[in-house]
Amino acid sequence: IKANFSIVQDEEGNFMGLITVISDVTEQEKVDRERKEFVSNVSHELRTPLTTMRSYLEALTDGGAWEDKELAPQFLQVTQNETERMIRLVNDLLQLSKMDHKESAMYKKRIDIIPVFNHILDRFEMNKTELIHVERKIPDERIFVWVDQDKITQVIDNIMSNAIKYSPEGGKITFQVVKEPHRLRISISDQGLGIAREKVDKIFERFYRVDKARSRELGGTGLGLAISREIIEAHHGHIWASSKEGKGTTIYFTLPLRKRKRGSRK
Ligand code: ADP
Repeated sequence: IKANFSIVQDEEGNFMGLITVISDVTEQEKVDRERKEFVSNVSHELRTPLTTMRSYLEALTDGGAWEDKELAPQFLQVTQNETERMIRLVNDLLQLSKMDHKESAMYKKRIDIIPVFNHILDRFEMNKTELIHVERKIPDERIFVWVDQDKITQVIDNIMSNAIKYSPEGGKITFQVVKEPHRLRISISDQGLGIAREKVDKIFERFYRVDKARSRELGGTGLGLAISREIIEAHHGHIWASSKEGKGTTIYFTLPLRKRKRGSRK
């Protein structure tokens, strides 16, 4: 904490009082430190695919692998994957940056949300590349929430893909919706590898991964849950996780249910 004092005098120079400005330096330092850390993380995340690409391209050109009918396509595939990763990363970063600057407006509308949830889950079940069974515990009624449908879809896509990525094949995923007095609580549970207790809250931080190598291998950017948190908070909801190592993980989020004011026709 830093304190600045200024003496206040009247025109004749008589002492009138003291102005004290107390500022929280630690908060500012924390923000600075986080910013530096973020820049360092971004640089690192971009350098990794770039150096990978450089060595594969070198092998193709100087190493002469371009003439090898077996190796050449494989090496080109690697550079293509790394390019895709960088595009995903930069897109995620741009989205976060827009949200930081409040530029990314939420296009909220009053939406009958249950069909939206079912539609997203249908899409996951249609995409049968993974053997995944989704159990739905969803009330069969009309529930209206005030949301940006695309953004909420993005949040669920993120959480669902994680549940799939970090689960054994054939694992069950449970999608549950509970109507509470003032909010809707959505939870997505998996039977995957779980997260250690002391790490559970960190997964919403930018670039935090429990297992860096594994996340990279699965194509992750480490930003999905950070973006999800920004989106949910922009909807005045909360997002959190509970997990047991070796048992599975549940990600929860809430959306406020707006009580219609009496007399209001909006
Ligand atoms: P990533 O792109 O690495 O998946 P996320 O922001 O989506 O980034 O998630 C951050 C980290 O949280 C992941 O790297 C993973 O370690 C952990 N995580 C997220 N969801 C799950 C889950 N369902 N089970 C286990 N770990 C998870």
